[in-house]
Amino acid sequence: MKEVRKRAIYESCRILSPSGELMCLVREKKARWYLERGLARLVAEAPLTVQLVFEPRGRGHSGDAFYTRTRPNVCAVCGATEGLTLHHIVPHGYRRHFPEEVKNHSCHDLVPLCIPCHRRYESMALELRRRLAEDYGAPLDEAGQSYDRRTAKAKKAASALERHGTRDDVRIPAERLEELRGVLRDFFGTPDVDDALIAEALRLDPCAARTSGRSHGEVVVANVGDLQAFVERWRRHFVESLRPAHMPAEWRVDRTVGR
Ligand SMILES: [Zn+2]
Repeated sequence: MKEVRKRAIYESCRILSPSGELMCLVREKKARWYLERGLARLVAEAPLTVQLVFEPRGRGHSGDAFYTRTRPNVCAVCGATEGLTLHHIVPHGYRRHFPEEVKNHSCHDLVPLCIPCHRRYESMALELRRRLAEDYGAPLDEAGQSYDRRTAKAKKAASALERHGTRDDVRIPAERLEELRGVLRDFFGTPDVDDALIAEALRLDPCAARTSGRSHGEVVVANVGDLQAFVERWRRHFVESLRPAHMPAEWRVDRTVGR
């Protein structure tokens, strides 16, 4: 289960093109990233608005209502406003094998879900994964996962420790901290956990840690042929399974994947 987002999911910071045109809405972290690297200048603090100082490749999503409109922070299915997680309509195990161009433009299929709705969909999604496994002769791993659980656990522990160390609003009880350090000690087989080790764990790629053979997702994506149809299959499955009542207005099953 993904951790609950405590802050607004769509933070709605504004990125302007060098000519001042609204290009897209992003999280604060991303807007600050441009600022810190001198790639953008500050236009306003509230809402945080930054203007790029370089001409970006392409023009982001200017003129595309889906990306430039502020999206509501509610569960796309039931409308709940608390305890939201972000859900990728196309599961990560497939998306990671998509071409970069498609991966970089996948936020159309990223929707907020509350935890109960997210859980409800997980078992439904497993049904579709099983069908895909049969259709493409791509067996699922034991628990339907396609990444190394031990590596994923170490990375998750490091990520919690990092947040604890760098953010004022994150407080982890001492007992749990010790548990998290224990995970890293076991994983790396070292007695001490310092910042360098945490940084190393953050760079782990659980998906690459798989030791043998190609994953279910890799085989499926290599064989689907029509990526658009594949993504639409997941979108259709999502709406038909959950009947979401609060999808973003511009969201569509047949929206073109990628740019
Ligand atoms: Zn919900």
